[in-house]
Amino acid sequence: MQALTNRSVQVKKREMSLVERLYLPAIFNGLVITFKHMFKKSPTIRYPEVQREFAPVYRGLHVLKRDDKGAERCTACGLCAVACPAEAITMIAEERKPGEEKLFREEKYAKVYEINMLRCIFCGLCEEACPKEAIFLTTETVPSMYNRKDFIYGKDKLVESMDKRIDVSKRQDTNVHLNS
Ligand code: SF4
Ligand code: SF4
Repeated sequence: MQALTNRSVQVKKREMSLVERLYLPAIFNGLVITFKHMFKKSPTIRYPEVQREFAPVYRGLHVLKRDDKGAERCTACGLCAVACPAEAITMIAEERKPGEEKLFREEKYAKVYEINMLRCIFCGLCEEACPKEAIFLTTETVPSMYNRKDFIYGKDKLVESMDKRIDVSKRQDTNVHLNS
């Protein structure tokens, strides 16, 4: 060990040639490379304005589906939250008020339904676990935001609007967008 620490290596500085000392050839070579790249197709895209086309099976932002009559399909069984490996789903169930169950068919609903998009790994297990086909992963990507709490999506963002219903049968054929 002692022998190693006492060893020293002398690195000789290489003398630059006359051409190298002029720098102009090196600058010229650099300009040629830059010029060549100006006419090549750029591999980068202007995300988020431009987005790449995803595979039809791509899973992105979730949506909570409504049934044919417009009622929320989710019956707050909690299976999605149990199946979620990232523990990203928070759900609080509530019973319907007397008389309401006739209107909504199911006697329970999710009073609170939140997904933490920072925890979610978009595996789709919640969708697989749901017995009511109430949760569906679209091909929308999660937009960038400045606050961590903005990544917690509540029912206001998750429940699909009446006029923008999603045809879930399109999953295997084409991309399904929230705003389609
Ligand atoms: S996609 Fe996966 S990680 Fe995300 S909420 Fe559903 S089960 Fe959890
Ligand atoms: S989304 Fe489906 S699995 Fe999750 S609580 Fe609602 S009905 Fe149950």
